[in-house]
Amino acid sequence: MKVASVLIPLPVPEAFDYEVPEALTLARGDQVAVPLGPRLMRGIVSEVFETTGSNRRLKAVDSLLDDPALPSRVVDFVEWAGRWTLSPPGEMAATALKGLRAPRPRPERRVRRVGERAPSRATPARTGVLEALGERSMAGADLARAAGVSSGVIKGLIDEGVLEIIEIAAEAAFDRPDPDHAPASLNGDQAAAATALAAGVTGGGFRPFLLDGVTGSGKTEAYLEAIARVLRADPAAQILILLPEIALTQALIERITARFGAAPAEWHSGVAPPRRRQVWEAVVAGRCNIVVGARSALFLPFVNLRLIVVDEEHDGSFKQEEGLVYHGRDLAVARARIEGAAVVLASATPSLETLWNAQSGRYDWLKLGARHGTAVLPDIALLDLRQNTPDPQTWLSQPLRLAIGETLLRGEQTLLFLNRRGYAPVVLCRACGHRLTAPDTDSWLVEHRYTGRLVCHLTGFSMARPKLCPSCGAEDSLVSVGPGVERVEEEVRQLFPEARTAVFSSDTAPDARSARALIQRMTDGEIDILVATQAAAKGHNFPRLTLVGVVDADLGLRGGDLRAAERTYQLLAQATGRAGRADRPGRAILQTWTPEHPVLMALAAGDRDAFVEAEMAEREAASLPPYGRLAAIILSSENAAAVEKTANDLAQAIPNAERLEVYGPADAPLALVRGRRRKRLLVRADRDVNIQAFLRAWLARVKVPASVRLTVDVDPYSFL
Ligand code: ADP
Repeated sequence: MKVASVLIPLPVPEAFDYEVPEALTLARGDQVAVPLGPRLMRGIVSEVFETTGSNRRLKAVDSLLDDPALPSRVVDFVEWAGRWTLSPPGEMAATALKGLRAPRPRPERRVRRVGERAPSRATPARTGVLEALGERSMAGADLARAAGVSSGVIKGLIDEGVLEIIEIAAEAAFDRPDPDHAPASLNGDQAAAATALAAGVTGGGFRPFLLDGVTGSGKTEAYLEAIARVLRADPAAQILILLPEIALTQALIERITARFGAAPAEWHSGVAPPRRRQVWEAVVAGRCNIVVGARSALFLPFVNLRLIVVDEEHDGSFKQEEGLVYHGRDLAVARARIEGAAVVLASATPSLETLWNAQSGRYDWLKLGARHGTAVLPDIALLDLRQNTPDPQTWLSQPLRLAIGETLLRGEQTLLFLNRRGYAPVVLCRACGHRLTAPDTDSWLVEHRYTGRLVCHLTGFSMARPKLCPSCGAEDSLVSVGPGVERVEEEVRQLFPEARTAVFSSDTAPDARSARALIQRMTDGEIDILVATQAAAKGHNFPRLTLVGVVDADLGLRGGDLRAAERTYQLLAQATGRAGRADRPGRAILQTWTPEHPVLMALAAGDRDAFVEAEMAEREAASLPPYGRLAAIILSSENAAAVEKTANDLAQAIPNAERLEVYGPADAPLALVRGRRRKRLLVRADRDVNIQAFLRAWLARVKVPASVRLTVDVDPYSFL
């Protein structure tokens, strides 16, 4: 008997076995319909094998579906990703089918000639139509225009059976990129990097690279040139470029279109589903060469993937925390390994993990020196707020105000950076000291003035700002504490009423289109002062921007989690790197209460190596990533007792293991979210310990009740 193991999109740890009917020939990757209870479900064949009878009676595969099979390496990849993240492999496989969920775009209706049939009456108009049409098929309206007749003439020919209407499936055409369309002339470092990258790709096999260079050094330019060479060597090569934010895709798509004379395919949640379906189908058919996308593009069914670029590889947005928990950068490296392809991680501030891999020789380290051309890195100054304390209820110190004024006078732009959405992060009652929180979540409500609401940033809960304190009932006693971007903008408007100001955050630019519009206004010089969260700190090129003011450089350092210092360094280096990218020199001013902090001193000195060395030493001493491994287990339930019990059961069942410790269970810092109680456990292991095997053995020992949700987060980035 032939049996097929089928991956089904359900939270189960393994594929299900089905009998293969005589009439069907199945292979790994095929899409099939299989019975599950009373329903039929779509599944992916992971394996087909012969067996001589079994004591279980297997149900049979219902049918082979018409949709394209997943390439076998894509199945390898989803299975590997399932094992690495301890996620159900069937759900990983379902991620690879996401593009198929949308309906196809509607077919196009066209007319064509029916055989040699001639019209009963050959008027000049009718003859003109038949001549214009020839052997082709055309949309009726186009044909009428081409022949210079009314649509009635065409309708008459259809009624007479001389022409017929046909429906043509709209198959998206993806133009082939032309590597020689508009080549750039690279400087020495860039050319060397492009050559090494291209050689890595065309040499075949798995080759990981770190492309390391300050903002504006031409990393994009270098990898575009490498892509051109890859396409010259193999016009069917497929290339995937991953970006951390949808807002960055448009600028890159424009650059690629200008360089190759053809637009790449775009893949992220902002792309309309029918379009995503076209991209999916073009990718699996090899009709599309370059895809620019968000992390989920890693699951596309490429058939000839030669290179993956992970741009801004240090960015925490590559970590997916909801649903399937995975890190896009790590999975990109894994996909390249499975495909036997090259992968290049590009950043001005690489993650410590990636630097560690480069230092130890696992990754080829390509370095770009200075900024391209005459552009120089901005001059970074620390501004000690103890000596330049802003007035009460204001946030910009005198020296920063002066610098903004000078920049305005020169007709140049300022970016004020504060990684806090809304107007004020906390609202409290002056009478009783109560801080307003969401009703079912442990987080403070953030005041938003533009919308007039108090918002929980974790769950999206919002309410109108109350008149009375919800705790003591005092009237008009609520005060806004601390600044968000809206409040800084309010201060800027008062100081510089003539300046054109705007706020850039996920509230003012919630989708790709509005972000693009805001970026365009800034690029065109229609904004003088932009107050922005991290949404504007990365990747964008603003030629007229010469001053970056960091309102609160200490903000990220207070968090105290594993990567607080690293993240702060990266974010501030990226934010300050926005200044002075064209021919005008830039400067950055960092307001801080702790100018002696090593992270800030390294930033001011432009000494990334010193920062990395100090931070690596701390991680090594504590055996934390990249020197060790971490995994978190998060339990949550509306039933507090059930969470408590499951946490205790887990604690009792910890397998013996060496060079590995388990911390907790403890209440999560966010102990209550949407009415669910949360507890966490943290596993730390030495690098050579197989932490996944440990977790699997451990979790197999404990029965988790249906009321408790258990999430495994391998290599956690959030500790909340
Ligand atoms: P990065 O990706 O390192 O931030 P980019 O590739 O975006 O750097 O380059 C920064 C700016 O410098 C861009 O406007 C780019 O067009 C320009 N640039 C970089 N290298 C060159 C080059 N060799 N020739 C022309 N312009 C270049």
